[in-house]
Amino acid sequence: MTLMEDSVGVGDLVLLEPLEEEPLLKNLQLRYENKEIYTYIGNVLISMNPYQQLPIYGPEFIAKYRDYTFYELKPHIYALANVAYQSLRDRDRDQCILITGESGAGKTEASKLVMSYVAAVCGKGEQVNSVKEQLLQSNPVLEAFGNAKTIRNNNSSRFGKYMDIEFDFKGSPLGGVITNYLLEKSRVVKQLEGERNFHIFYQLLAGADAHLLEALKLKRDTSHYAYLNQKVSRVDGMDDASNFKSVQNAMTVIGFSEVEIQQVLEVTALVLKLGNVELADESQANGTSASGICDGRGVQEIGEMIGLNSEELEKALCSRTMKTAKEEVVTTLNFTQAQYARDALAKNIYSRLFNWIVNRINESIKVGSGEKKKVMGVLDIYGFEILEDNSFEQFVINYCNEKLQQVFIEMTLKEEQEEYKREGIPWTKVDYFDNGIICNLIEHNQQGILAMLDEECLRPGVVSDSTFLVKLNQVFSKHGYYESKVTQNAQRQYDRTMGLSCFRICHYAGKVTYNVNSFIDKNNDLLFRDLSQAMWKAQHPLLQSLFPEGVPTQTSLKRPPTAGAQFKSSVAILMKNLYSKNPNYIRCIKPNEHQQRGQFSSELVAVQTRYLGLLENVRVRRAGYAYRQRYGPFLERYRLLGRSTWPRWNGGDREGVEKVLGELSLSSEELAFGKTKIFIRSPKTLFYLEEKRRLRL
Ligand code: ADP
Ligand code: MG
Repeated sequence: MTLMEDSVGVGDLVLLEPLEEEPLLKNLQLRYENKEIYTYIGNVLISMNPYQQLPIYGPEFIAKYRDYTFYELKPHIYALANVAYQSLRDRDRDQCILITGESGAGKTEASKLVMSYVAAVCGKGEQVNSVKEQLLQSNPVLEAFGNAKTIRNNNSSRFGKYMDIEFDFKGSPLGGVITNYLLEKSRVVKQLEGERNFHIFYQLLAGADAHLLEALKLKRDTSHYAYLNQKVSRVDGMDDASNFKSVQNAMTVIGFSEVEIQQVLEVTALVLKLGNVELADESQANGTSASGICDGRGVQEIGEMIGLNSEELEKALCSRTMKTAKEEVVTTLNFTQAQYARDALAKNIYSRLFNWIVNRINESIKVGSGEKKKVMGVLDIYGFEILEDNSFEQFVINYCNEKLQQVFIEMTLKEEQEEYKREGIPWTKVDYFDNGIICNLIEHNQQGILAMLDEECLRPGVVSDSTFLVKLNQVFSKHGYYESKVTQNAQRQYDRTMGLSCFRICHYAGKVTYNVNSFIDKNNDLLFRDLSQAMWKAQHPLLQSLFPEGVPTQTSLKRPPTAGAQFKSSVAILMKNLYSKNPNYIRCIKPNEHQQRGQFSSELVAVQTRYLGLLENVRVRRAGYAYRQRYGPFLERYRLLGRSTWPRWNGGDREGVEKVLGELSLSSEELAFGKTKIFIRSPKTLFYLEEKRRLRL
């Protein structure tokens, strides 16, 4: 149960008194300093990143947690994984595990701990083991292509991930499906100071043997590549060369053929080479500038590698064909446009390669549709983000978190309600903040920010980020959760911190100011047709398959959905998926900004607890009854407080509990007797019982 004998502070914040931010932080700090990184809020798990290997994982601990029920041992991620797995197996309820928190808070490590726990307890046999191996080996592959060193986290996932693990009726794994969200593709061509490109580039250069390097026509030294040419090329404690071997091995285990692995590496090398294509700024007689290729050799080499005539590649990089009803007009791109086109191509190739890899893994781990399955979903996705400059990426990430918060509140309340119903206890209404209005502001089909952005992207005529902002300001001038300089002026408030090109949304977790610069561009996510057609023409099967829209015979000019629309629909699918499952929450918290063990920054943690809505979470949990326990264990713990139940009690558990509590003449308001559990309204009552018990012992 929650009052674990050796717990430091309270192991379950539902029992926190008083329920305020400061004691909550103090409690987390006290526990963290005693290496208690896990704390509950009821069945929600809070996990603080220890930044050190704690001796609390591995087979011995797995064995311990698999044999006990949730509250019997110290809070632990294994306990949560165990509850989820057991109710999937024994109660036939599909589960999902939602892991949120900011970058570096420990989400990905948590998802791996859950997966390894489940893998350890879920059945045996050769067939089963090979499925497990495939599922586990998907991690190093996805991390190689989707993770990078950032300022906040040396192994930061630059994509969101949802993975369904599917089981048969006995609870043995059959396979799974991975969905990825929004790879941060801008990283391919540009990184912040102190950050790196995706791991795979460094792994390939460091780990490929001389033969492979030669075949790919690559140079070992990272400084040779413009897209990698940054001050940091190595990460402390990370061995790129040996990781490369692990990735190759993992791909083989998953079922990639040798040819496929080779082609993946060729496309990876292609991206590096594209970055080295130097464009020339050729001023023309009429004063305009046009682009050309400085060094033909690089382009030649790329052409040879991907089976494309180098003149065609050059043409695609430096010009653009516009089709009108009657004719085709070819214009030469100017220097800036050509650079933009080259980088856009590199980003597109890489992000499509990443999607291809995810699909390829899915092909291997796919389960036949005929089989009846039980499912455990694991969501590892970036938490709420407030940076100094917030752009389109933060906007969609925060939208996703707004939706997850909605799921959270609704499901927590629903679960409470269901438990009360099961136990036959009347439900008392809970007041909570419903963020539906903010979700609507963003996602409404016509009058939502995303829809208006799409409209602006498709509208003929001169469109720009600022015409978009003007529209927003018109439509939302009276909206309670939307602010901008213009709407503020109308209300005679003037906020110097907000620029003219910004709007602000009052998210559930706080206000965020977004700069509209390049919203249109990022939402459009267009690649010039000349480039996709050129890629399609290449005699490289993998590359070609990444650009299906490049088929020249394709006449329809129907544009692909915008980035915003795609994200919105994948979030909708995710939500539907989550609502159909029983949720388990892991809330990850980063204790300091320095990736250091033992340091606890109250301010930093306070911000995160607000973003995660932890206080609100405790409030919802406590709205009715803070504490509940099955009659048996409760009686066992407290029967020494009753005259008739001590030292011997021969009656039923429930009668025993009624006796003990009756003799203590507790207010009837405080208690409710459910079918299988006793419910206690306030933590004070529980502490009173604990104190009495302590005095008796
Ligand atoms: P996120 O996915 O939230 O960005 P990660 O899961 O990648 O964060 O964690 C960042 C780093 O923190 C890891 O690389 C690891 O060094 C450390 N870390 C996270 N969780 C744990 C843990 N439970 N035990 C030890 N170290 C951890
Ligand atoms: Mg991560």
